[in-house]
Amino acid sequence: MSAPGPIDLGEGENYWRHGRAPYVPHAHEMPAEVDVAVVGSGFTGLRTALELARAGRSVAVLEARDVGHGASSRNGGMVGPSFHKLGMAGLTSAYGEAKAGAIMREGMLALDHFEAFVEAEGIDCAFTLPGRFRGAPTAASYEATARECERLSKAVGLPFEMIPKARQRDHIGSDFYHGGVLYPRDGGIQPRMLVEALATRAEAAGAMLFENTPVSGLRRDGERFALRLPSGTLVARDVVMATNGYGAPGATAPLGPRLVPVLTGVAATEELSPNLIRDLTPQGQNFGENRRVFMWFRPTPDGKRFIFGGRLGPMRGSRAARAKAVRASAARVFPQLADVRFTHLWTGAIAYTQDHAPHLGRIDGVWFAGGYCGSGVTRSLYFADKLARRILGRAEAETAFDDLPFPKVPFRPLAPWVAAGLTRWHAWQDARDDARRR
Ligand SMILES: Cc1cc2nc3c(=O)[nH]c(=O)nc-3n(C[C@H](O)[C@H](O)[C@H](O)COP(=O)(O)OP(=O)(O)OC[C@H]3O[C@@H](n4cnc5c(N)ncnc54)[C@H](O)[C@@H]3O)c2cc1C
Repeated sequence: MSAPGPIDLGEGENYWRHGRAPYVPHAHEMPAEVDVAVVGSGFTGLRTALELARAGRSVAVLEARDVGHGASSRNGGMVGPSFHKLGMAGLTSAYGEAKAGAIMREGMLALDHFEAFVEAEGIDCAFTLPGRFRGAPTAASYEATARECERLSKAVGLPFEMIPKARQRDHIGSDFYHGGVLYPRDGGIQPRMLVEALATRAEAAGAMLFENTPVSGLRRDGERFALRLPSGTLVARDVVMATNGYGAPGATAPLGPRLVPVLTGVAATEELSPNLIRDLTPQGQNFGENRRVFMWFRPTPDGKRFIFGGRLGPMRGSRAARAKAVRASAARVFPQLADVRFTHLWTGAIAYTQDHAPHLGRIDGVWFAGGYCGSGVTRSLYFADKLARRILGRAEAETAFDDLPFPKVPFRPLAPWVAAGLTRWHAWQDARDDARRR
């Protein structure tokens, strides 16, 4: 392994795009009118466009930057049931036991849906389900995780196995945790490959993809909408807002004003030796941890590098400073990586909601889906399918999230700053707890 040095950006900062040709959509003249305008070309927008185009609707996907510019090409690619962040206990006290179970069950349904969709479409996105180990920093955290998993297992049939500290090394090359839980049905994908596969299929079904086409405003005109584009106005009978954490609040209502974007850092190591990779992840599994400011990490699909993500120190500032912060976070768990070099360093915006739940539906006539709170790989495809069913008037369009209120975020322009301040406070609390454990 070479000595730590300044970040080498190689073929671009985002590892998932490394060595891949840019996706080039077919050229089209912007029509004057379409059945459906989809704003945003991530998983949500592309999957919705695909279903609507296959049903015979004329569809224009309007993307401010390039296809899949947002979180969908930048994420960790970890898939799993994506449970609600409040847990069974939190949800039960907020909504009662039956509703809590129904909300959690959606997480399992989203994973089933994702697996079935990827298989039925024959999509190659390096999808595997090797399992995920989530480390507990303390004995109390281990016990709390065991209780929560028992509840989830009873309520929705979550498969899990508690791994005590004595057996931890079978799963992770680290003594940092006090044991943890193994989710055997979790896995991963190469997210950029999924973006490209969805875009290809949406175009094959007849959807038109327009890059460098930011929507700067939306006006209702009787039964139709007029969307303001750089080239003029596009009229659409239906509008789907699929901008998630990348939409400016004014231009992307109803979604933008209801979400808080939080910037997250991701980094890929240089290629590591097969022995080192085997030491870090003896069974090729992915990882998470129970901390206020948690990190997730996983091997790349080719098994040659590791990717780390989370709110890992400063997101802005010099690359050297950012790489140093990521290296320190990685070495906290894996001292073997104290000298590792990071070749790719990028960021992405996660869209949080006030109630920690994703939302889909229709407000002021505009359809939307988003707010996946950092767990959107399976959920976005599942929600997009539900949204398309609603627009097409098809059956099985309901979810347990439908009746949850989705208010605007108060003082929305300040929200990202408040979130950043809270993160700093939580990171300080985590560091204090680490110091007490030593
Ligand atoms: C760093 C990171 C790691 C993550 N890791 C995971 C993970 O491991 N597992 C998991 O399940 N989830 C993960 N997520 C979450 C997941 O990536 C997202 O929930 C999901 O990709 C959201 O897809 P989307 O299509 O709704 O939004 P996006 O992919 O963000 O797409 C929104 C698009 O809208 C476009 N846009 C915005 N405004 C306009 C406008 N006015 N006009 C036109 N276009 C516009 C943007 O350019 C963007 O391309 C992660 C997210 C991040 C940021």
